Amino acid sequence: MSSISLRSLSKQYTNEKHTLENISLDIKDKEFLVLLGPSGCGKSTLLRMIAGIEDITQGEVYIGDVCVNELEPKDREVAMVFQNYALYPHMTVYENMAYGLKIKKVKKIEREKRIQAAADILQINPLLKRLPSQLSGGQKQRVAIGRAIVKEPKVFLMDEPLSNLDAKLRNEMRIEIKKLHERLDSTFIYVTHDQVEAVTLGDRIAIMAEGRFRQIGTPMEIIESP
Ligand code: ADP
Ligand code: ADP
Repeated sequence: MSSISLRSLSKQYTNEKHTLENISLDIKDKEFLVLLGPSGCGKSTLLRMIAGIEDITQGEVYIGDVCVNELEPKDREVAMVFQNYALYPHMTVYENMAYGLKIKKVKKIEREKRIQAAADILQINPLLKRLPSQLSGGQKQRVAIGRAIVKEPKVFLMDEPLSNLDAKLRNEMRIEIKKLHERLDSTFIYVTHDQVEAVTLGDRIAIMAEGRFRQIGTPMEIIESP
């Protein structure tokens, strides 16, 4: 069960007005939800609160039937992909993918199996021994996605994963992310300010502005609304 329930979530950074105000949403098991909105509206903050790398000021996050507010990121069964890839520069591609699994005490033979499977899906086999500095932007993003896949997360959190890629690569990777969602059993939450990405990827789109949801619906409903 990897449904997600966001219940009256608020976020206030020190002494400022609320960055997020009373956000509530139920996301279905295996749904692809897109958070769409302009820079600064709070998308990234919301994603990080679900991942457990940002404190929640008020409200609860449920994954399945479990309130995860008090759980460490590694115990939430989520994996996050960042815009800037966030690979460990001193580790090879293989080691980047193995690292999170070692922390979770996944046995070496199982690690190898998962890394091999992810490398096959993403076609990064020839890159496993390279350092991040020896990769192109598109290759780095594949590795970042691979590092998330091997965790076999219930929930995939993606924060503008394609923003640093050129237009051609962005189109290619968008199609791959769509396929990945079809292939895996995970629920996806995908942050973007790109309407094309939102409409082509999302089962539903939540449009955000100034820390609130302005509209939530299928791409069809969003396009047809005045
Ligand atoms: P988005 O992902 O939609 O661009 P963010 O969640 O990154 O938006 O930011 C939302 C708001 O919260 C912005 O006004 C930003 O300046 C503020 N903010 C983000 N991170 C911090 C932080 N660590 N400390 C204080 N303010 C922050
Ligand atoms: P440990 O550190 O526990 O011995 P690792 O799984 O991290 O185990 O692997 C050890 C080393 O072997 C790493 O440097 C890794 O890069 C390399 N390695 C293991 N399997 C492969 C593989 N299939 N392709 C490329 N490098 C590999």
